[in-house]
Amino acid sequence: IGLSFCQMMQRLPPLPSIQEIIRIYGLSARKKLSQNFLLDLNLTKKIVKSAGILDGCIVIEVGPGPGGITRPLLNSNANKIIVIEKDSRFLPSLQILAEASKQRLEAIHGDILSTNLSSLIPSACQTQWDSSPPLVHIIGNLPFSVSTPLIIQWLHSISTRSSAWSLGRIPLTLTFQKEVAERIVAPPKSEYRCRLSVMCQYLCDVKLKFSIPGRAFVPPPKVDVGVVHFVPKIKPLINQPFKVVEKVNRHLFHLPNKYCSKAVSTFFPLEREDLCTDMIELSGINPEKRPFELSVEDIRRFCDAYVEILKREPELFEYDFRSQASSKERRNKGNLIQSLEDQIGN
Ligand code: SAM
Repeated sequence: IGLSFCQMMQRLPPLPSIQEIIRIYGLSARKKLSQNFLLDLNLTKKIVKSAGILDGCIVIEVGPGPGGITRPLLNSNANKIIVIEKDSRFLPSLQILAEASKQRLEAIHGDILSTNLSSLIPSACQTQWDSSPPLVHIIGNLPFSVSTPLIIQWLHSISTRSSAWSLGRIPLTLTFQKEVAERIVAPPKSEYRCRLSVMCQYLCDVKLKFSIPGRAFVPPPKVDVGVVHFVPKIKPLINQPFKVVEKVNRHLFHLPNKYCSKAVSTFFPLEREDLCTDMIELSGINPEKRPFELSVEDIRRFCDAYVEILKREPELFEYDFRSQASSKERRNKGNLIQSLEDQIGN
């Protein structure tokens, strides 16, 4: 009774359940593609709800698999749903959904890591960066091994307003391994604070919407999952090129619990201690602060200070402290770097 005419028009006709689709098409989860399916429609509806109001939107879903999230998307008031799936086995069942939805769904066989998103969105959707986001949303429950490199790639695009973000501040709702989701939203001093926290938070407003226990997936992964909502900020909190921010963070979080002065010493060759002093002075940050305690504003100051020094000696940007370390140091540092990569990986 409470449904609007528009909502009634968008309801799907009766369809086989996702479990039946999996059985009929023999869609067993492939370990190689880290496939873990969500079959509980209450949870997939909750993911879609956490994306916010989708009325009139174009929604791009990455990794639809058998369509657990796609179905509630089709039952929303989104105008169009475009799904991008790497595993061709899912295309026939997605085609059933496309037909049932009277082609509101478009299924694309492709790899999201090499898909040019802007070519999928009509330019009429574009809004000014400093106005409301366009009526476009990106959503996905991707394998953990894809979601972290993808968000880094997309943060880069957000920073340069390229790819989908050439059309405005398109929001995203994505799942991550729970610990990675905690890192993405971690405030200063949190045990989860790391370079991924800063890379996400300087460009986007981020919110951990809710968690899903691993046992809710088929097959269940060993870890729980967090659903994170991202809205690109009108004004990034750091106004320096992405590569600079990335490098400054990489160095600072190399030793997250040591004094910042120690981390700053990794920016320059050993014999250039003068530059470490300069960088601390220019930033105005207490060198006894520890990197995990730094706010994005503190890191902004370090980035600005580093760029000031680079203006005098641009070649220093190429300096890689790992190449100067002795083999023993290299081994130790290698372990640290590996643990850093692990922090942001899944
Ligand atoms: N969305 C479905 C769900 O929630 O049940 C499936 C989730 S499963 C974790 C991830 C899906 O992403 C799989 O269908 C997998 O084939 C697909 N996938 C993996 N890598 C991909 C990529 N690079 N591009 C597009 N899809 C990908």
